[in-house]
Amino acid sequence: MSTIKGKRAVVTGASRGIGLAVAQALAAEGAHVALCARDEKSLTSAVEKIRQQHPAAKLAAHPADVSDSRQVAEFFSFVDKELGGLDILVNNAGFGIFRATGELTVEEWDRVIGTNLSGAFYCSREALERFERSRAGFIINISSLAGKNPFAGGAAYNASKFGMNGFSEAMMLDHRSDNVRVSYIMPGSVATHFAGNEPGKADWKIAPEDIAEIVLAVLRMPERTLISRIEVRPSRPQKN
Ligand code: NAP
Repeated sequence: MSTIKGKRAVVTGASRGIGLAVAQALAAEGAHVALCARDEKSLTSAVEKIRQQHPAAKLAAHPADVSDSRQVAEFFSFVDKELGGLDILVNNAGFGIFRATGELTVEEWDRVIGTNLSGAFYCSREALERFERSRAGFIINISSLAGKNPFAGGAAYNASKFGMNGFSEAMMLDHRSDNVRVSYIMPGSVATHFAGNEPGKADWKIAPEDIAEIVLAVLRMPERTLISRIEVRPSRPQKN
């Protein structure tokens, strides 16, 4: 079993929802965690929340928009200074705009693809550069079942997550012989603020903590083994 204690991890989109749950779970295991999101205030309160539960945790946070490659580069330099290296990247930052294709603006399309897909590439590039130096690393991409099941109104979001799945598999093939493991997780509905939802109102949904458990399970696999892709569903979905 691979140990998580003392590993240095970046979690993007970590101020709430799945990203916060993953950062909390990693901190609970004794990992050193760097968090980013765009809004500095919610990022600070996320760090305070984790610190209350795990006072000894080594945490670092810096605002960054993953769709901007320059901000991503600055964030990873900050991580170098704060954590002194990198072992794990969780590409989680993401959002959706749900509108019929003909009604999507170019700006909306660019924002969804830029965040969910290009953002994961920008962060992975930075991580791979560091993994090359340490000759090891782990990248976990939080994709979605929308990455294999298209739906009306999902053109931009579906494209970003179908893209993320292909990107993840190709990156895995490119780098697994360099001791870099790449996995992607495809959750169904998770109780978060995603798409303007109210997490408290959805007890049938997957809890963000359950996705965090899966991230830990993937990381804990012995080095010889890679769980490359996972689908996760609510076991009792709401009936329409
Ligand atoms: P959420 O509660 O809305 O959290 C999204 C997080 O990402 C926030 O911390 C947000 O902070 C950050 N973020 C958004 N855009 C960003 C950007 N450009 N740069 C950096 N950070 C950014 O959503 P969630 O449900 O936890 O979603 C997390 C991931 O899970 C997403 O990739 C989503 O596609 C995926 N997912 C969610 C569900 C679901 O049902 N909830 C299902 C399958 C997959 P700021 O706004 O401050 O930047």
